[in-house]
Amino acid sequence: MSIALRTLDDGAWISVNDSRQVSVSDVWTLTTGTFCDCTPAYVLLEAFVDVDVDGSTVVAHAVGQCLECGTRDSIEALPVGRIVNDDFRPYDPEGVQWLVEPDGERT
Ligand SMILES: [Zn+2]
Repeated sequence: MSIALRTLDDGAWISVNDSRQVSVSDVWTLTTGTFCDCTPAYVLLEAFVDVDVDGSTVVAHAVGQCLECGTRDSIEALPVGRIVNDDFRPYDPEGVQWLVEPDGERT
């Protein structure tokens, strides 16, 4: 069993198993300060560039803009949901998301 992940409609949606699951128009709350200096940062997504799965977590590569300071940048790995028993369980965009660190080793 594999999960089919892709972006649709020029990055407006993330499709999971040929079903539109995550819309780009949500505001996501990011906490780690890697996107901009705001903590938390309220980031309105503009487009999904790519989507991937990291373990059981579905991560999106996206472009977004901070509603407070106006920083517009790419987001390397935004967790948008997870795979449970081959089902997709989306995260609530209004919940606080922790960005996956690119090299997430903490010493
Ligand atoms: Zn900001």
